Amino acid sequence: MAAVTEPTQILDVLRKLQAIDDDIRDVREGRDSMLGNLTKLNSVLEERDAQLIEMREKLGEAETWYAKKTNDLDLEKDKLQKAKVKLNGVSRSREYVAVNRELDNIRKNIGHREDEIERLNLAIEEFRSTIEVEDEKVKDLRSAAESEEITNRDALSSMDERIGAVNVRREAIVSQIDRRLVRRYDKIFKARDSVAVVAVIDGACGGCQMNTPPRLIEAILRGSSLVQCPYCNRYLFQSSGHDEDGEAEA
Ligand SMILES: [Zn+2]
Repeated sequence: MAAVTEPTQILDVLRKLQAIDDDIRDVREGRDSMLGNLTKLNSVLEERDAQLIEMREKLGEAETWYAKKTNDLDLEKDKLQKAKVKLNGVSRSREYVAVNRELDNIRKNIGHREDEIERLNLAIEEFRSTIEVEDEKVKDLRSAAESEEITNRDALSSMDERIGAVNVRREAIVSQIDRRLVRRYDKIFKARDSVAVVAVIDGACGGCQMNTPPRLIEAILRGSSLVQCPYCNRYLFQSSGHDEDGEAEA
């Protein structure tokens, strides 16, 4: 590709580059924020899923504990039965009193265990319904994330397409000028809020608003050299004589 070397032609190329980068920047920002939202939604979902798994594990532990306590109660009830049988076989009154005391103790024990099991049962029920509610919420969240992803899929792919197309256009433009110039442009673009080429408006740089020295304005008007703002380094052009796309007017 024949390299453009005339300062006015180079300036035109740089202005086209700026116009294209303005275009691509908006699309990129839109794409990044969309992807950012999706990522955020998914990480919230992951967190809630992990919490739910943890809750279910705790529920499992409580259920195991409940089963053990129920088993203990059954054992205690067996003991009661045995003590009752023993009581029937007792003839001496002293022994009768002793077995009767044992029976009382077992009954008391059973009462305590039943209370404990009842409380445990209530807590487990409550925990179960908490998990159910959370499970529903996570399901809703998941379907919201999925529909968000589906809704955004088309927009994302069209943005990708657009970025790709703009990159092709950009490459075609960039190839017209010296690579070192492109690198300088990119450096200024990054350092100066994505604006590397600006118009001189009322004798001042449109980027940093500092007054442009008259000899530089003259140089711009002569078109004899590429002019950069001495304060912000941006490439300068005279606002009249070009349209918005950076095309030189006939
Ligand atoms: Zn400036």
